[in-house]
Amino acid sequence: MYVPLVDLKAQYHTIRTEIDDAIQRVLDHTGFIGGEEVSRFEAAFGSYVETGPAVGVASGTAALELALRACDIGPGDEVITTAHTFFATAEAISNVGATPVFADIDATTFNVDPNAVESAITDRTRAVIPVHLYGRPAELDSLADICRRHGLRLIEDAAQAHGARSRDRACGSIGDLACFSFYPGKNLGAYGDAGAVTGDPGLLARIRKLRDHGRLSKYEHDEIGHGERLDAIQAAVLEVKLRHLTEWTEARRRHAATYDRLLAGSGVATPTQDPLDRHVFHLYVIRSPRRDELLASLSAAGIGAGIHYPIPLHRQPAYVQRGFGECRLPATESAANEVVSLPIFPEITADQIEYVADHVRRFAA
Ligand SMILES: *Cc1c(COP(=O)(O)O)cnc(C)c1O
Repeated sequence: MYVPLVDLKAQYHTIRTEIDDAIQRVLDHTGFIGGEEVSRFEAAFGSYVETGPAVGVASGTAALELALRACDIGPGDEVITTAHTFFATAEAISNVGATPVFADIDATTFNVDPNAVESAITDRTRAVIPVHLYGRPAELDSLADICRRHGLRLIEDAAQAHGARSRDRACGSIGDLACFSFYPGKNLGAYGDAGAVTGDPGLLARIRKLRDHGRLSKYEHDEIGHGERLDAIQAAVLEVKLRHLTEWTEARRRHAATYDRLLAGSGVATPTQDPLDRHVFHLYVIRSPRRDELLASLSAAGIGAGIHYPIPLHRQPAYVQRGFGECRLPATESAANEVVSLPIFPEITADQIEYVADHVRRFAA
């Protein structure tokens, strides 16, 4: 049996007519930039995240950079984040001229440890960017409290957390700003690059200007901005897919529960959840001390497992060159050596899950 890590074709087949019609409407009116698809999606996504209208941008990375710029964070400033994440989280900080400061993760949640965040604060710290990694909400209560006490901005990297909830609130509605990615493989994925920012209306107004060349009107530019708009075809696709997101998230959570049940007692460490939060299982990540062997054996069985992420950011050549190689982040480093992402996507079948779980159990035995 072949089980891919994600299967975008399987999903497209379930919504083909809706998607094709939505794209065709844009082709017919040829309003490829801005327009009603973008503003309708911004309103719909904002209400999904239980806030005002979102601001659509060109990618999750653009969302992070524009969020930092809107908070006036730049050279001389420090931003505390995690090194157990996709590169873009720190890259955005570096690209605005600020310095990332990596705090260690909590070994059971994989998210940044609030105590480590608080210890990393200096008089240059301006913001904290927690990542809701794999779809599990970061500890926002403690982080929001730390940010309030120290006068720091809280920017959620919600690229993996569409529909996740922290206590009774939606991820994306808690920080000063929150950054979403609609990269095709994300829980809400476009058919190309796309992203959005939600949060404080004043900061969002600035981002709306910054994404479009700092423009006030067609010919008048108020500040140096970026060309990082969301385009109409992506917005049209996202508007269709957003209508299915609740049902797809429920499917992911059911599949995760099935894996939990099938892997119980196998000896592998399955993902933990906080019962008061809502994990949306962008990825289903287990830990194994024999990770590389497990990965090879899954791959030989036709199972598309992945590693998110094998090289912590402080060990990436780009950050070693900037002097980060000496950082000591023990929980981050051991996670990077042990994590394996098993296939999970809404359309995965019961047979596929059983096949994968059976293989993992036999390997662990
Ligand atoms: C995907 C991702 C990003 C970047 O999003 P793009 O849309 O690919 O630019 C940033 N942070 C995290 C945690 C991600 O998973």
